Amino acid sequence: MSAKIIDGKAMAQQLRASIAKAVASLSQRHGLVPGLTVLLAGNNPASEVYVAAKSKAVSDAGMRAFDHRLPAEITQADMLAMISRLNADKNVHAILVQLPLPAQIDANAIFAAVDPAKDVDGFTPLNAGRLAMGMRGLVPCTPLACVRLAKSVHSSLAGMAALVVGRSNIVGKPLAQLLLAENATVTIAHSKTKDLPATCRRADLLFAAIGRAEMIRGDWIKPGATVIDVGINRVPGNGKTRLVGDVAFAEASEIAGAITPVPGGVGPMTIAYVLLNTLRAACVSAGLPEPQI
Ligand code: NDP
Repeated sequence: MSAKIIDGKAMAQQLRASIAKAVASLSQRHGLVPGLTVLLAGNNPASEVYVAAKSKAVSDAGMRAFDHRLPAEITQADMLAMISRLNADKNVHAILVQLPLPAQIDANAIFAAVDPAKDVDGFTPLNAGRLAMGMRGLVPCTPLACVRLAKSVHSSLAGMAALVVGRSNIVGKPLAQLLLAENATVTIAHSKTKDLPATCRRADLLFAAIGRAEMIRGDWIKPGATVIDVGINRVPGNGKTRLVGDVAFAEASEIAGAITPVPGGVGPMTIAYVLLNTLRAACVSAGLPEPQI
């Protein structure tokens, strides 16, 4: 193995420690305790695990966690009414709607109903538009995590050839916007891209957000490239399941210059950014300067 392993877990611990300090100071000086509400509809086992991890991280950072478990059969109207109540609740500074939502719920309509000032995931049309226009707003957590991980290897991404594989509204598109803001030369690939292996081989920075286990092979990677693997895929292994990314890690580590592992890369940093966005939202709501963390 030649690649440097980018330790997202250790980076996330440092970030969370800085956030906890800022939260303690906010509550001492201003009596303000940031609060995050997570809405979880249904009983998706993976979602339950994520929500429990997020709530623990919120409490560990000294913030308030208000979780709402909603029945799988909840109606669109009831979910919108719940969001409307949370928008009006002064103790709730940030609202996170856990995906996937039950089939009867229109996710875009739910995101559009969240107060943009509490939109911790940056999924509302207003925050997505602000990001596209280079204006301040709340930015999706996973893309922020990806850029921070890449910048732990390269202090500047300017002029680098960045490839984002995946064009979802929650990862691929906002990640491409952030990379553009970092002055990278950005390409977005997707399921209709012709000759994906050759496209990957041109990338100095390769971001995989596909949702297909180990699809990106070692020989698709440009020697020395930095690889950030967003994918979380459960595959069978030794009688139970194990997590793998969208990149074939063992092969890719022989070719890449630096790579994030799965687990232990983007995942823990995403949770750290949920905390940071909650803190930012609380500061902005009180008219205080945003923390520089
Ligand atoms: P989506 O399913 O919304 O999007 C997947 C994207 O991959 C689509 O744009 C799709 O293209 C593209 N794609 C699918 N198949 C191929 C292919 N054969 N070749 C090229 N592109 C392809 O997924 P998400 O963006 O929500 O998530 C992506 C992955 O990241 C998942 O594994 C998810 O679990 C993980 N994830 C991890 C997070 C973390 O914290 N670590 C947070 C969020 C997600 P098209 O648009 O053409 O269909």
